[in-house]
Amino acid sequence: MIFSKIRDLLSVPGDNPELVQSQVAALSTQIPMLYLILLLNTLGISVTHFYIAPIWLTSYLPAPFIAICIYRIASWATFRDAAQIHEVAVQRLRGTVHASAILGACFAAWSCALYQYGDLYHQAHLAFYTSISVIVGVFCLMQLRAAALALTLTALLPSVLFLASTGEPIMVAIATNVALVSVAMMRMLFTQYADFANLIETQKQLTFRHRETLQLSDMNHRLANLDMLTGLPNRRSFFVEFDALMKHSKEKRRSFVVALIDLDGFKAINDLHGHAAGDRLLVETAHRLNAIVKPGIVLARLGGDEFAILISDEQASSDFTSLGETICEALRVSFNFNNVVVTISGSVGFAMYPDAGATKEVLLEHADYALMYAKQKNRGSAVVFTQEHETEIRMLNRLDQALRHANFETEFSVALQPIVDTTTGATKIFEALSRWESPKLGIIPPSDFIRAAERSELVSRITLNILRKTLAQMENWPADTNISFNLSARDINSSETILKILAIVNESGIEPNRLMFEVTETAVMTDFDQASDVLRMLQRFGIKIALDDFGSGYSSLGYVHRLPLDVIKIDQVFVTDIETNASSRSIVKTIASLCTNLELDCVVEGVETQGQVNALHDLGCTVLQGYFFAKPKGPEAIWPIVDLTKGGDAQLRNAVSG
Ligand code: C2E
Ligand code: MG
Ligand code: MG
Repeated sequence: MIFSKIRDLLSVPGDNPELVQSQVAALSTQIPMLYLILLLNTLGISVTHFYIAPIWLTSYLPAPFIAICIYRIASWATFRDAAQIHEVAVQRLRGTVHASAILGACFAAWSCALYQYGDLYHQAHLAFYTSISVIVGVFCLMQLRAAALALTLTALLPSVLFLASTGEPIMVAIATNVALVSVAMMRMLFTQYADFANLIETQKQLTFRHRETLQLSDMNHRLANLDMLTGLPNRRSFFVEFDALMKHSKEKRRSFVVALIDLDGFKAINDLHGHAAGDRLLVETAHRLNAIVKPGIVLARLGGDEFAILISDEQASSDFTSLGETICEALRVSFNFNNVVVTISGSVGFAMYPDAGATKEVLLEHADYALMYAKQKNRGSAVVFTQEHETEIRMLNRLDQALRHANFETEFSVALQPIVDTTTGATKIFEALSRWESPKLGIIPPSDFIRAAERSELVSRITLNILRKTLAQMENWPADTNISFNLSARDINSSETILKILAIVNESGIEPNRLMFEVTETAVMTDFDQASDVLRMLQRFGIKIALDDFGSGYSSLGYVHRLPLDVIKIDQVFVTDIETNASSRSIVKTIASLCTNLELDCVVEGVETQGQVNALHDLGCTVLQGYFFAKPKGPEAIWPIVDLTKGGDAQLRNAVSG
């Protein structure tokens, strides 16, 4: 028990690397000092005893001790680098314990051997030499308790016993003195060593906590600035970069470019294939974009399927249009998830500082405008914001202002356009189209004012206005007149508007089965689930649903069967060149057979010539709408034509027989 305790006290534990390193660091400066003192003290003894003691004792014997001291000084002085290796450091500490024990014993024995040769002065010198050297040794070895203890046991204890054994009163007094000092010194050694070990432990804990804090703050930084799904910088980080770049560019009078990228058809993928597929698509998109952008270009995910780019340096700014094309090309490549191949596209809107705006807000608004422009006019392309867009925005803003102050009752009217069943010549249904004549701006085409109105909730006022006015007049129209209305994305995404629509229909007393609502693909794709819920509800009410402008938008046949539809209206872009373009013909044919398969009615819009009517008949399309039959007109102007069509108008007869 006691032996194992002593063994523990004399051993160097190697399980605490931080303690070992700190011990080595402390000892590397103290031990050379200790050996130097020992060496000089030993030389002092040799000199004072040179003429009174035999030469082998004053010179030959201490010579190797002194050589060992010099060697130990050198080896400790050059030990720093090797000490980094834990095992080597532990080895060195254990060696130090052994060296302390052996050298301590040797020097003590040498000192005792010299004792008999001198007078009392010499003997006092020896007693002083031994005790002071050991005390210095213990102090220098304070951080390595085992070595200090070993030295005390092998050098101090024998020397004290030796001095006490001489019986000389002065020597006995010195021995007693040294013994008392040693007891105090041992106490100090134990407390100092414990404090030292505690200090190292505390430092270790502090370092650990500090590292933990750094890790946490790094994680916080990542959470705050990185998009967790794609690993790209997030919206917050993008705006920080944007502000910095804006400031820098203002100061240096340099240009820069901001681009917004939005995936076309992403929502449909999410709705049809699930959110996991949507997530994978976003991750893959981020990879593709990352592979394209050069260093120095900031790429971030702003949220959803919206990404953004900041191109800072002027060299890159000059060829940003080709970067836009590369991005669009990369996003057109099909994505393959577990054997499900999906094809989407991405549109890009660019705005350049300072041409397209001098503030962050304006630049972003204009990049967004360019993006929307790309989406509407040429899906999957890159558009740079230009002066013409600026003019267009001003026009839209002017229209917006005029619309806000418009008197909807007097300025807005309804135009009807028949949709004709060319097999019978009868009008199946009329499409109600809004007309606006502003006292300030004159007649504005619907393509313009609907676009301006769709930027805000104003469009729903137009929808409700035309619905209310038309239903009020329907009582006076022939009983079998059916009417189709257009709904915008905002209408179907607002439960409030839908409820108002249902209330208006209800109050009018018109049978819901005389009504149809047209929605575009784009409107449906804004929120597929919400759109299909709303359309299903309208359908349950008895109202028919048509998918308007089909083929001009996402042109994805995949989702059609999941929508509650009664009619598909094929967009007029395919009709314009139907006589000359085989691919237009094949698209129309495909959509027509899709309608047959899904038992939906098929209407073709924008029919202007007899040739187009014939071509459409060849493809099996017989329900047609267009200027060839009648332009949209006010109700009073349409009835004479419709009466004619019902009676067999010349134009229609031709169309039917042709
Ligand atoms: P839409 O719903 O596709 O309506 C058909 C558009 O094509 C109408 O344009 C009509 O005048 C035009 N059109 C019909 N036949 C022909 C043709 O043979 N050739 C050519 N070139 N065009 C033809 P309009 O009245 O200018 O309306 C444009 C768009 O504005 C509509 O497209 C519809 O999306 C929107 N719109 C019109 N009124 C309303 C409304 O009250 N509410 C909503 N939300 N949108 C409306
Ligand atoms: Mg329509
Ligand atoms: Mg249409």
